[in-house]
Amino acid sequence: MTIDSLPTLKQVIDSHGLAARKSLGQNFLLDLNLTAKIARLSGRNEDHDILEIGPGPGGLTRGLLAEGARHILAIEKDDRCLPALADIQAAYPDRLTVLCGDALDINPLDHLTPPIRVAANLPYNIGTELLVRWLTPQDWPPYWDSLTLMFQREVAQRITAAPGSKAYGRLAILCQWRTDAQIVMNLPPEAFSPPPKVSSAVVHLTALAEPRFPADANMLQHITATAFNQRRKMLRSSLKGLSPDIEDHLIAANIKPTDRAEQIDVERFCALARSLKAT
Ligand code: SAM
Repeated sequence: MTIDSLPTLKQVIDSHGLAARKSLGQNFLLDLNLTAKIARLSGRNEDHDILEIGPGPGGLTRGLLAEGARHILAIEKDDRCLPALADIQAAYPDRLTVLCGDALDINPLDHLTPPIRVAANLPYNIGTELLVRWLTPQDWPPYWDSLTLMFQREVAQRITAAPGSKAYGRLAILCQWRTDAQIVMNLPPEAFSPPPKVSSAVVHLTALAEPRFPADANMLQHITATAFNQRRKMLRSSLKGLSPDIEDHLIAANIKPTDRAEQIDVERFCALARSLKAT
């Protein structure tokens, strides 16, 4: 198989019987112009290895390779996709490694050489969990330079939300603490086959050299999960299980004990994490 003889994605899906499975979050991109555009949003990748989660029939994989990615590790759970991905491997010798398995169980570092970027049209059911894992290693900077990820639009808005807005919560804080995050493309349901019920968006996150404010990743995760679990409550009440002296810690972090979680910016959540960690 050569690049020029690769079939269209519609032909790939028909010939390999890739009827979309809802349980695997399969909404495929069939327009190679669109996948090339998403690939370009991840940057110039001649000097980068790329981690792709869920290549499916390989639309984004083809876009990334055509745009020059040095090497791709693609992790796909659905073994029905493997023959289609093998054709792409043959067209781009030595530039694509495919692993069949659950992305939550595989350590990509065994197969990639830095510098590394992540680019994926994520399966919606594990997208948030993967993102939180990428954002919360104990040590920073992480193994990746940037993440270019397709999410449901509502999730993309939660990533980029400002304090005081309805979408602001744990995800906004974890993302904005350690990355610059931006929505770089919006896509209607019709861009996918089959079309999902909701719109989608591509978010580009660039890892900061250092987190914006010092804090322990586990403590920050724990505090934000607890605070936003009861987002309508005052923090002195939603966080009281964290410490008998929670009001003192809140005041030390310049937070009024009567404030609610969505009013607190990333800087003050980090200050609270430091105060609680110090006890
Ligand atoms: N990248 C393709 C595209 O853009 O057309 C497919 C994207 S589709 C939204 C998500 C893909 O992730 C599917 O191919 C699905 O089989 C795969 N997937 C679902 N759960 C997975 C998991 N736990 N680990 C790896 N891949 C998974």
